Amino acid sequence: MRFDLELLDFVECDKEFNKIAVSGSDKDLTWNEFKNEVENFKTKLLEFNLPKGHPVVIYGHKEASFIVSAVACMSLGFPYIPVDTIYPQERLNKIVNVVNSAVVINTIEDKIDFNIEKVSTEYFYEDPIIYIIFTSGSTGEPKGVQITRDSILDFAKWLEKDFNFNSNNIFMNQAPFSFDLSVYELMGFLLFGGTIVLNSREIIETHLEYIERLKKYSCNTWVSTPSFITRFLLSSEFTTQNLENLTTFLFCGEVLTSMTAKRILNNFPNSKVLNTYGPTEATVATTIVDITPEIIEKYSKNLPVGFVKENTTINLLDIDSENIGEMEIVGDNVSIGYFKNEELNKQKFESKYEKRSFRTGDFGYFEDGMLFFANRKDELIKLHGFRIELGEIDKEFTSNKAVIESITIPLKRGSEVMKLITFIITKDEIEINELKEEISKTLPYYMIPSDIIKLDKFPYNNNHKIDKNELINIYKKL
Ligand code: AMP
Repeated sequence: MRFDLELLDFVECDKEFNKIAVSGSDKDLTWNEFKNEVENFKTKLLEFNLPKGHPVVIYGHKEASFIVSAVACMSLGFPYIPVDTIYPQERLNKIVNVVNSAVVINTIEDKIDFNIEKVSTEYFYEDPIIYIIFTSGSTGEPKGVQITRDSILDFAKWLEKDFNFNSNNIFMNQAPFSFDLSVYELMGFLLFGGTIVLNSREIIETHLEYIERLKKYSCNTWVSTPSFITRFLLSSEFTTQNLENLTTFLFCGEVLTSMTAKRILNNFPNSKVLNTYGPTEATVATTIVDITPEIIEKYSKNLPVGFVKENTTINLLDIDSENIGEMEIVGDNVSIGYFKNEELNKQKFESKYEKRSFRTGDFGYFEDGMLFFANRKDELIKLHGFRIELGEIDKEFTSNKAVIESITIPLKRGSEVMKLITFIITKDEIEINELKEEISKTLPYYMIPSDIIKLDKFPYNNNHKIDKNELINIYKKL
């Protein structure tokens, strides 16, 4: 069985009714049970008489009912807004107020809050919105990225063609539903009739349990940010001998370093490591590449983020002398804009083309037909006039076998970079001075960080990307 987004209903495509559709943090549901739960939930939602297009907030974590609620909303034409419990109540309230949602589903307490005064009839869209994901804005105010059915259908075509997703995929989920990385496995299992295995925060924090679940459900497709996998790569249990079904590793959201890719291929020699790139505003991702040993060897300094998907173009704006420009995405996968934010929509989404477009604020360049991520617009580093690629410094650090992870960040006063600080996690005892001396042999003096700080672990934000602001706080407290 699978869910068809054009019909907005389940369709039977095989006789494997006992196959698991969703393994939640609370319970497992076979495809039959899943379908029944969605139907029952639809009946409950219909009681509120919401107008078509009315947004519904889903607040919860990794319960099976989170997915049940989301699919019921999709099926009835209500955009769903996923808010994970890793966010404080205050953020939930802010979002509920911004979208003026009359219905808030709480999948932890298993209840639905309904406020009849908020029901409005102004919502209607020709191309129905499937979800609205709130991302952090640079002003600190969350922005709601609206993704329509046509964008998801376009995304699904790509998943089938270039990722080869089908009913055999058993996805291991890491990201919370409020982070659009999770849309890979959500649409991946739902539209193709596969299986999704959800993991609560507690399980994610205890690696052994995570590995146990990978094994128990014979997961074959890993989806996470690159920084999430690095800690697993040190575990002797995290190998192909122990997890023979695990054959695909799919990444997005952050730079995938050649060191991490190499370590994965070392532990899982015949696996596929897929690097993908894209902002939430263009439906999860826009480029893909299979990181083979040959690619690692050829582009070890900066791995490609890959080939632009069919039906989408990436233009480089204001190209500099090194052929680096700001990436602009044009295609059906681009969002129709932020929820009720006309001013920002004008800046970011105003299109000169027939199709929708989005200015990413990311810099990149093309080489050998592939896109390479250079840096964020707001992270272009110039120190005393020297242009510096921070990733290059980290690469030097991690080429020392004792260094497991390295992240270099600029300390700024206003917009001026004052100095560079490198945070490292090491395996063995290591002398900082010796390390500094070692990297001085390969890096120019202006790329040697002023301070090198050893940590036991890095702080992460809610999307499991390394939290650079928190690193600066740690530094300031030293
Ligand atoms: P989000 O909207 O939270 O998914 O974040 C999107 C941003 O993450 C992009 O605009 C990039 O700055 C960054 N990003 C996403 N994928 C990659 C990648 N493969 N390599 C480097 N940065 C990435």
